Amino acid sequence: MKKNKNKEVKQNCKYIFVVGGVISGVGKGITSSSLGLILKNRGLSVTAIKIDPYINVDAGTMNPTEHGEVFVLSDGDETDQDMGNYERFLELKLTKINYMTTGRVYQSVIERERNLEYKGKCVEVVPHIPLEVIGRIKKAGVEAKADVVIIEIGGTIGEYQNMIFLEAARMLKIEFPRDVIFVMVSYLPTPSKVGEMKTKPTQTAVHMLNSSGIQADILIARADTTLDEKRKEKLAMSCSVVVERIISAPDVDSVYDIPMNFEKENLSGKICDILNLKSKKPVVKLWNKWKTFAKHAHNGKEIVKIAVIGKYFETGDFILSDSYLSVIEAIKYSAYAQNRKPIISWLSAVDFEKDKNKLKELKKYDGVIVPGGFGSRGVEGKLNVVKFARENKIPYFGLCYGMQMMVIEYARNVLNLKDANTREVNSKTENPVINIMESQKENIINHRYGGNMRLGEYKAILKPGSVAHAVYGKVEVIERHRHRYEVNPNYILQLENAGLVFSGRSPDDRLMEITELPKSVHPFFLGTQFHPEFLAHPLAPHPLFTAFVKACINKKK
Ligand code: GLN
Repeated sequence: MKKNKNKEVKQNCKYIFVVGGVISGVGKGITSSSLGLILKNRGLSVTAIKIDPYINVDAGTMNPTEHGEVFVLSDGDETDQDMGNYERFLELKLTKINYMTTGRVYQSVIERERNLEYKGKCVEVVPHIPLEVIGRIKKAGVEAKADVVIIEIGGTIGEYQNMIFLEAARMLKIEFPRDVIFVMVSYLPTPSKVGEMKTKPTQTAVHMLNSSGIQADILIARADTTLDEKRKEKLAMSCSVVVERIISAPDVDSVYDIPMNFEKENLSGKICDILNLKSKKPVVKLWNKWKTFAKHAHNGKEIVKIAVIGKYFETGDFILSDSYLSVIEAIKYSAYAQNRKPIISWLSAVDFEKDKNKLKELKKYDGVIVPGGFGSRGVEGKLNVVKFARENKIPYFGLCYGMQMMVIEYARNVLNLKDANTREVNSKTENPVINIMESQKENIINHRYGGNMRLGEYKAILKPGSVAHAVYGKVEVIERHRHRYEVNPNYILQLENAGLVFSGRSPDDRLMEITELPKSVHPFFLGTQFHPEFLAHPLAPHPLFTAFVKACINKKK
């Protein structure tokens, strides 16, 4: 922050708050990411923040069916899946400062109070909590040297939980009236029996936002179809948002088209006008690359069929694929780059436990992925799948738990250690081929589960001549992790002598990072202790996913 001659505080950074109306899941994360991209395309430097209004300090302790995927940042912060969207759309590397929850904010305020940092004052929810929020927002902007900070407030307007964050946003607007705007993403239903798109829920949501002292500057109108002029005018009149700033955002087949759709309405130009932001040199190259990528999402004529064997799908009577969002997106990027349309099927691991016949269904797929997971439910099903994929030479890609399953399966069926298991499932097994990491024992004994797995970026060294080495084309890689268990070093020699290759290891040689079978034995049978999906980007597909997809395409042939 600089002070100008008139002593008015001059802010170098602009803030765009994105809030949601009517329903959750209306696409605030993709909207925020797309806004970021169209501003970045104007040469502006952009960063993004996600605010989750729940008490959990981070997303790490929540079941994915409650909350969706836990996205791990490079510094190990366990966050919301929208952080993944921001990183992917904006080619950013975000850290802790870009993510906050009610729990996290209160935790720091309480810590400060204990450290006497409030100098004897009575510490109150207002203003101290919003001030903490504002401090974090400003810090994220400064650290990223951002021209624009996009802040997405989770939840829906009218919820008790996000009120304190709206208060922070309102206070920031008072501090910098010309540098803060509000974008409301709302939903306009078309009830099938009525057959007409309804504006009333959005009107109500905007009025509720008004009652927090905030006026929306831009309205993103999410709906099945395009918003007509009549409804735009109605909303403009009722919500005090001029017609040009009501942007129609109909459902799309591919979310990667959304930035282009926004630009059809010159949204970046309108935002720059309101914020008095001067565009820098447009990044033509970036925009063209993005457009080409987005086009690829529609081009693939031939399909590639991939089965994901997991367990975080069911929510009541509905299926939710959000728990594996980064995995799905990583598959898409690699498939699009090969001009293929990926068809991803969700198969429940539990279904493969008893019904051996069900395994034959796997032959319909070009490849199988077992993604990350925790606990014992579905494990025996996953092990049956791994065995079937290994013996039938179906391309297999194991992510974290999926790699641990490869090791257990090999120990049971090739080394003949019938009770081989992970201590996570059977703490008394005679053959714990997957064991708790030494550094994690204390955490488990003391029931400390929050934010203390082996998290974030770690280096791995690849074995020359291995599949992994050929795929990456280098011997040193850095990937993101989230686990408590590891391949038990006592079994490595035995497993290697039986043909399993540990082709990636931690630099001290202690921890197994990649497991594979040689190409001469299996077309693609590889697993990683890390999560490559977190580093797959639209404009830079992940080499391991690409190698897997290529193996799937070859199998088809
Ligand atoms: N449950 C396993 C562990 O903690 C795997 C974790 C994961 O798949 N992310 O080691």
